[in-house]
Amino acid sequence: MSTKIQRPRGTRDLLPDDKVLFRFVEESAYEIGRLYGYGEIETPIFEFSDVFHRTLGETSDVVNKETYDFTDRGGENLTLRPEGTAGVARAFISEGLSQQLPLKLYYSGPMFRYERPQKGRYRQFYQLGAECLGYETPLADVECIGFAWDLLQKIGISADCTLEINTLGDTESRAAYRAALVQYFTAHQEQLSSDSKTRLEKNPLRILDSKDESDKKLVAGAPTLDQHLNENSQLFFKKVIAGIERLGIPYKLNSHLVRGLDYYCHTVFEFTTAKLGAQGTVLAGGRYDGLIESMGGPKTPGVGWAAGIDRLVDLTPKELTGKSEKLIAVIGADEQGEDESLFIAHQMRARGLKVENILSGKMGKKMQKANKLGAQYALILGNTEVENKQVTVKNFTTGEQTLISQSDLKTFNF
Ligand code: ATP
Ligand code: MG
Repeated sequence: MSTKIQRPRGTRDLLPDDKVLFRFVEESAYEIGRLYGYGEIETPIFEFSDVFHRTLGETSDVVNKETYDFTDRGGENLTLRPEGTAGVARAFISEGLSQQLPLKLYYSGPMFRYERPQKGRYRQFYQLGAECLGYETPLADVECIGFAWDLLQKIGISADCTLEINTLGDTESRAAYRAALVQYFTAHQEQLSSDSKTRLEKNPLRILDSKDESDKKLVAGAPTLDQHLNENSQLFFKKVIAGIERLGIPYKLNSHLVRGLDYYCHTVFEFTTAKLGAQGTVLAGGRYDGLIESMGGPKTPGVGWAAGIDRLVDLTPKELTGKSEKLIAVIGADEQGEDESLFIAHQMRARGLKVENILSGKMGKKMQKANKLGAQYALILGNTEVENKQVTVKNFTTGEQTLISQSDLKTFNF
């Protein structure tokens, strides 16, 4: 009995049509990033487990339940990267990049999380992201969100997306808020999910991000951070909001927005959509001033975001990605013509033209195939053409057919 060959659960095969969309999104991000001064970085797909386990926080869902951890043959504890920021921060430290601050870095690639697969949620998924390191000013947060917004506009999905934004405040404000949350959730402890009971001890803020229904009800009545923000934090957030308004980016304040990972402070934001069902967050980010220092590097402020490419492409209008490019078919009418067609096709591609050499089939079938592929021209070669160093050019749009010398092909205006 043969076993069926399958891909592992939660993975995808990206076929040529998918890759057209993926590339469009990635190239759009790369191009806009270039305008903003972002250089591209690529870190390893696996890192020492500590890079993620220590920095993402032991109470985050990602670290608790979702990482792919393994020991390699040399006994090293490694983890497939579940997100991009921790690896970029690790690279910043180990490559000694602090001399180059401020530093703006763009990345794109696969991430891995052991999650329950469903539409828009995979175990191997793709993110592109931006990290702006070295700026303490709220203007950096605004610029970073501006980059995200420009991207959503460029790929034609900004009208489907809403920017939700919140502040977590500075360390002092968060400590005050934390105390208020502990008091509130302790009073309602019996209604908390068991995960959130653990969070209550280790990181009560995380409860706000819970997906458990009973937790969600409690969260709706929980105190919000704005009541605990000190002056410094209020001022910071005001400047972010003023900047966003100045750029004309529509936004919604969401006082319950916290991010899934431990290292955020001040600004946190998400672009969400109603068009993708439960998996509605397409891009998410925030400020992480303490991260690099907590990993043993120099104190370095940072702000950034990551977008789920799988989700972005589900929203991107397909027509945006189609390049209107001329296609030329090369057709050998007999054996001699077929042999020569290789050379002619090669010459045309050297001119930068897109060429499909229709390698087999009877003449009529070949012409049909050229039509089906949407070719605007066919270059037809039979033994007479080959011997006279000529080629028949058929214009499919006008039906016109002309015999020209092969040397004129180099400059022929298709
Ligand atoms: P969610 O609440 O959907 O689980 P998250 O908070 O875990 O998201 P982040 O860590 O902020 O997600 O990752 C940034 C973005 O990457 C998300 O907004 C989403 O678009 C995408 N993303 C995260 N996990 C997955 C996944 N398993 N499959 C596909 N895309 C994902
Ligand atoms: Mg998640």
